[in-house]
Amino acid sequence: MIVAMQEGADEALIQQVIEHLVKMGFEVHRSTGARMTVLGAVGSGIEIDIRNLELLPGVQEVHRISSPYKLAGRSFRPEGTVVRLANGIGIGGNEIIVMAGPCSVESREQLFTTAEAVAKSGAKVLRGGAFKPRSSPYSFQGHGEDALKLLREAGEKFNLLVISEVMEISQIPPMLPYVDILQVGARNMQNFNLLRELGKVRKPVLLKRGIAATLEELLLSAEYIMAGGNYDVILCERGIRTFETYTRNTMDISAIPIIHKLSHLPMTADPSHGTGRRDKVSPMARASVAAGADALLIEVHCNPDKALSDGAQSLFPEQFAKLMDELRIIAPAVGRKIV
Ligand code: PEP
Ligand code: MN
Repeated sequence: MIVAMQEGADEALIQQVIEHLVKMGFEVHRSTGARMTVLGAVGSGIEIDIRNLELLPGVQEVHRISSPYKLAGRSFRPEGTVVRLANGIGIGGNEIIVMAGPCSVESREQLFTTAEAVAKSGAKVLRGGAFKPRSSPYSFQGHGEDALKLLREAGEKFNLLVISEVMEISQIPPMLPYVDILQVGARNMQNFNLLRELGKVRKPVLLKRGIAATLEELLLSAEYIMAGGNYDVILCERGIRTFETYTRNTMDISAIPIIHKLSHLPMTADPSHGTGRRDKVSPMARASVAAGADALLIEVHCNPDKALSDGAQSLFPEQFAKLMDELRIIAPAVGRKIV
């Protein structure tokens, strides 16, 4: 941590701050320049709120150098993490994994028709919400366990793994037999009790970035899961809220290379929620692959105009097929492949 003293802070103030840091357990390295003094505070495992230091008399500013997350940080596994899924395929390796399917499981016919189409185009994981986090309590809330059963059945029929969202702790045990990846939605990224519980599970968790979350907050949420012993965390950018209103959210493509620098965990891009508009999904999916995404999560519906949720951002199966062909051209340009 770096503590910069105010210009003109006298020796007494500097000594006071040094003593404070030493009492906290830091080793202090002092550098006195022509105009100001900078203190380097070195120590590990010391709990600090830097605002308290910034309030000390004579202190100009305080910067943390080491990251507040340890297990999720790149230095924990510099070589990167490949999260292995049930059938041995990995997320975070050379192959980019595409997860696709409807926003919500609506009916057997809707799910099976869509699953067949996405499998044919090369998706490896079937998505579909069984428990839906809807902004309005009057909107369709999902078919719950019946939907989970359909997902598993469709997954087995079309050789797809299954991902679905878990909204609360009580849903974890009933979901485990049916899903291969548990999705934590944007609205629950900071549901710390849920995250702790998922730390005890031995199944991959896909953690979505909250609509107003910083990347540091995303990584701290991943840390909650990992601190419980579940290291199989896959991160996901799904758009953040900005002042722009044209799109539903602003797809932060830069989050992909930033996460790769800060963390060893694989990074997914969800251009469906990231844009909220069908015609913008493919361009953002292409950009995500070019930016280094390890996986994509894309909403596809056999009849989007009749969808019970997120129809406007769901691709038609033919659009998805075309997108997959485009991604197979882009991936090798950045040293990856899509099979
Ligand atoms: C979803 O994947 O359908 C979903 C609700 O996503 P998010 O949590 O990103 O809004
Ligand atoms: Mn959706």
